Amino acid sequence: MAMPDSWVYNPSLETASRNVIERLQLERLREVVHRVYSNNYYYRKKMKERGVAPEDIKTLKDIEKLPHTTKEDLREAQPFGYLITHFENVVEVHGTSGTTGEPVFVYYTNVDIENWGEIMARSLATAGLTKRDVLQITPSFSLFTGGFGFYYGARRIGATIVPTGPGYSKRQIYVMQKLSATMLAGIANYAIRLAEVAFEMGVDPAKDTKVRKGMFGAAPWTENMRKRIEDVWDMQAYDMYGLSELWGPGVAAECIYKSGLHVWEDHFIVEVIDPKTGETVELEEKGELVFTSLTKDAMPLIRYRTRDISRLLDQSTCDCGRTHKKIDRIQGRTDDMFIINGVNIWPTAIQEVLLREPLVAPHFQIIIDRENAMDKLIIQVESASKLSEEDKRILAKKLAYDLRETIIVTPVVEVVDPGTLPRFDGKPKYVIDKRVL
Ligand SMILES: [Zn+2]
Repeated sequence: MAMPDSWVYNPSLETASRNVIERLQLERLREVVHRVYSNNYYYRKKMKERGVAPEDIKTLKDIEKLPHTTKEDLREAQPFGYLITHFENVVEVHGTSGTTGEPVFVYYTNVDIENWGEIMARSLATAGLTKRDVLQITPSFSLFTGGFGFYYGARRIGATIVPTGPGYSKRQIYVMQKLSATMLAGIANYAIRLAEVAFEMGVDPAKDTKVRKGMFGAAPWTENMRKRIEDVWDMQAYDMYGLSELWGPGVAAECIYKSGLHVWEDHFIVEVIDPKTGETVELEEKGELVFTSLTKDAMPLIRYRTRDISRLLDQSTCDCGRTHKKIDRIQGRTDDMFIINGVNIWPTAIQEVLLREPLVAPHFQIIIDRENAMDKLIIQVESASKLSEEDKRILAKKLAYDLRETIIVTPVVEVVDPGTLPRFDGKPKYVIDKRVL
């Protein structure tokens, strides 16, 4: 496999001592709390209701006195409720992808674009992007933040940017070969899709392209998905995390040790809470990620509830030299979780089990239905190559058994022929819930 290649973009901040980081965090936290309190009706109102004033923030722990902010809060105050500068200072607008409703707009001043470039440059450097690289950016350049985020980071580094956006997969492969792209940015399942199209064109991604590293985010993916991507492309594949409400991609990024994602703590304070009670959970314990943006100019967010489930890792240092805390890979969004006869299930758990099996291709679909007042879970998955009916049945039985071990529920598994399930150029939609149709 391609050797990892990594460097530190901003050593003085990325490897600063914990003391320095925490001092900077406190200073910035106090500043941003003052700023939102003085300039924003909603924050002021909620803080008054909780009986907390900006002066009450004396230590980092005092952040727990502040109210949470939710997506519903942002939505109710649309379009400008959480904007704390004049609209004429706004140089760019993006929106959440609207998977759970209408998009929520987010605003950027020049300062915001600068800072976004900084955190994305750090993130891309962790994956080894240098000015000698050619980066093919496959997320869209639109209200969605993906494309622009990678763009601003790569501009900082001075890499050659090929902004293909999503789709037109054959053309992507053509462009990639002609321009000798060395790195791919996008959504993990699209890397799999591109490899598939390459083979259809007679191009072996590992041998006939120069792509040896990739950075993927926007939708949760698993370790076994990583192995599939790394094998088919002969690349190092890295995870990254972000969300539009907090700039977009670039909130946290995986380094070459692939054991958690560093959160850029001079720009964010990360907390993990119990989604039911809102209380902070113990270190290493799973819960909902909550972020406070410390440097956002147009639209800072205080204790923003992401609905993403992960945990803070108990690791104060990393072999890469960075001192910023790490979060685990995202297990899923609370919105993605579904419940079968009272059992909570994440699509990532299903992906992880299915892709452990080499006879299976990384394409699957989860269908939920009701039968005789019971929920029924059907998982359709493609085989990697065409199988006889008998072999399909044997494989399906084995997968159903393996899945049961992990998700407790026994699903009906249907192994289908290669190329029969939907492909996604953007975020994958694995679940079809017929109970709500
Ligand atoms: Zn590291």
